[in-house]
Amino acid sequence: MSSKLSNKIAIVTGAASGIGKEIAVTYAREGARVAIADMNMAAAQAAADELKAGGASAMAVAADVTDENQVNAAVAAVVQAWGGVDILVSNAGIQIVHPLEEFPFAEWKKMLAIHLDGAFLTTKACLPHMYASGRGGSIIYMGSVHSKEASVLKAPYVTAKHGLIGLAKTIAKEGAKHGVRANVICPGFVRTPLVDKQIPEQAKALGMSEDDVIKKVMLKETVDGEFTTVADVAEVALLFASFPSNALTGQSLVVSHGWFMQ
Ligand code: NAD
Repeated sequence: MSSKLSNKIAIVTGAASGIGKEIAVTYAREGARVAIADMNMAAAQAAADELKAGGASAMAVAADVTDENQVNAAVAAVVQAWGGVDILVSNAGIQIVHPLEEFPFAEWKKMLAIHLDGAFLTTKACLPHMYASGRGGSIIYMGSVHSKEASVLKAPYVTAKHGLIGLAKTIAKEGAKHGVRANVICPGFVRTPLVDKQIPEQAKALGMSEDDVIKKVMLKETVDGEFTTVADVAEVALLFASFPSNALTGQSLVVSHGWFMQ
């Protein structure tokens, strides 16, 4: 068993499902203590229990990442239990699709709140602990190929995911003297509940079959017609979390079967 993250304390938001859950499993496998932070507390608890059953140190913390008090309380609970925080993965996210002219303003604001306010609030809550520990830390934002490219129907998602790159670059500069790095992972389509929900929605909005949405929209530009997997994304999350110096900071890494090439 490798232990690239032994003695590290990680908080992963949105870790009750999908990509976040796999990152939590991967970090636990590498020896980290992992806090599963999610607004779905029952699922978060179940994910933490699974990790504990496998011998890992894990805890579930309830937090809607758009709520400052809940975020602060969740981070405080982790620090109280384990004494600090070394790795933050700001991953919680949702998708809502509409053409721009039909996008309800409330849904636009909800999208920006989850993706951008959530990243800001969790970072703000964790940074003082990373600065105080003298150990530095790693902040990882879950971007998307949509941090680099646009797609129709996804205005707030594309806007927010592009915004995370600006946030990471700023934290990279502010955090450097404390050894805190900030980076963005930019996955292509990954078969999670978030994507499973979009397939019928996009089929309806674009007037296509669900199979065509997968082949002609989601995977059209990949080099091999393959979905990216949660394990692929978790490997990149492990790289960013375990990298030992400020040499790798302020970056965004695309993991998408070549859908987007930099
Ligand atoms: P998912 O639906 O499987 O999991 C998302 C998790 O986030 C859920 O457990 C949900 O309860 C939680 N969550 C949602 N809103 C929250 C909030 N306000 N506060 C706290 N938790 C909240 O989705 P996923 O596909 O694993 O997506 C995770 C991240 O990866 C998102 O940021 C998403 O934009 C990004 N992403 C996904 C894909 C993909 O194809 N699935 C591709 C690129 C980027």
